[in-house]
Amino acid sequence: MIIMKFGGTSVQDEEAIGRVISIVRSRLPEKPLVVVSALARVTRLLCAIADEAGHQNEDKVRELLSQLRERHFSLASNLLSASPKLLEECNRDIEALISGVENFVGGVCLIGELSPRSEARIISTGELLSSTMISYAFNASGITCHWIDARKMVTTDDNYLNARPDLQVTEANVKRMVGLESRGTDLILTQGFVASTQKGATSVLGFEGSDYSAAIFGMALNAERVEIWTDVDGIRTADPRVVQDTGKIDVISYEEAAEMAAMGARVLHPLTIEPARKRNIPIKVLNSRNPSCEGSLVVSGDEAPDGPKSVTFRDGILFIRLSSDKLEGVCRMLGKVFSTLSSRRIPVTLAKATESEVYLVVPEGWDGLEDALEEIGSWATVTVYRDKAFIAVVGRNITSFAGLGDKVIGVAGKVYLADVSANLMSESFVIDRDRLQVTLEALHGFIFKEVK
Ligand code: ADP
Ligand code: ASP
Ligand code: MG
Repeated sequence: MIIMKFGGTSVQDEEAIGRVISIVRSRLPEKPLVVVSALARVTRLLCAIADEAGHQNEDKVRELLSQLRERHFSLASNLLSASPKLLEECNRDIEALISGVENFVGGVCLIGELSPRSEARIISTGELLSSTMISYAFNASGITCHWIDARKMVTTDDNYLNARPDLQVTEANVKRMVGLESRGTDLILTQGFVASTQKGATSVLGFEGSDYSAAIFGMALNAERVEIWTDVDGIRTADPRVVQDTGKIDVISYEEAAEMAAMGARVLHPLTIEPARKRNIPIKVLNSRNPSCEGSLVVSGDEAPDGPKSVTFRDGILFIRLSSDKLEGVCRMLGKVFSTLSSRRIPVTLAKATESEVYLVVPEGWDGLEDALEEIGSWATVTVYRDKAFIAVVGRNITSFAGLGDKVIGVAGKVYLADVSANLMSESFVIDRDRLQVTLEALHGFIFKEVK
């Protein structure tokens, strides 16, 4: 059995879904379980609907809901124009999902309050809609496809928008459901991202969480491999949307791929590696627009030489310096800082400490961050450096490659923080945001000059 996950751009329209069907057809003998994301930009649209409803902007909510309807109904009629009966059934299912969310959003508008639980319920609709339509499209193309609601398989905690699965319970559910439903069908299709809590309320695994779902299904079914189908030729030496002339990484270790994701590379969700590594399941990153490209293979080890594999970045971060004049000591200081941050679920990209100072890199504009800084400000001096960016070079035994720091200082002009991770997997720098693009290009050119 294999897992094939298709991201939003890979299912964005009729043409893309046609490509998905032919890619899956070529893999049918390997018994695929297909995982799909919402159509491109739909999760964002649903977030906007939830937000406007929370602010009781009823006209705006109505306008956005009609965009949601139009996008899905018109795609369904394009996909199923040759199968009127299936189109009728599909339209009925789409209507049920959209009117369900419409009623729910109406309730949110009425009370003018959006809880994380309500938001998760609203934004899960994207995957339910896309998977429903794609399942009909498979059946119309002659591939018998069985749709399973991922909420019946992936069981999580109550952190509705960034829910963490109970892997044991989930594994048992997946085995049971897939075992029951796979008889007599060519393939099983389900959703990424969506899950449910132990009490049965809908939860989601965090933005870009469908990669993580695919790895969880792979682990639960002990799959031969997990294929992540996206819109680029594999994992590259830098984000190809930002840096030109990037090269493909043919093979990369679990550890390096996890470090890349943690350091900001968007190509894989940061938690994706863990379930796959647990069972030593290879992950392939492939391009649905160019399926003949071999893509990248993520495995437990590789033959590549030590040193840089990729340059990653995070734009829009804050660099924060905390110092205490009360001789708190580093342990107490760190304890207090992290309890304040974790109670508000603020993600920390990097933290460093000396005897009297703590340095943090956190995403700008995170809900609750200003609050947290105010609380810390009651006992420490807080200095916030705004308009900063974070660059990291990732690769095993990174210090074997000399000159990264000099290069960054030379191009960026000023480095606010430089750090080599304890596992020697990355070397990272905080620089001024307006120097990010030139620094990325120069650093990438400096490291991978032979790659073309
Ligand atoms: P999907 O919708 O398939 O989940 P994403 O947009 O989440 O796709 O991820 C694919 C994107 O990741 C690419 O379009 C690319 O811009 C970005 N990306 C960032 N860093 C890298 C990298 N090192 N290699 C490949 N892609 C990267
Ligand atoms: N649809 C969700 C998102 O846009 C999950 C995913 O695509 O991975 O974040
Ligand atoms: Mg993604």
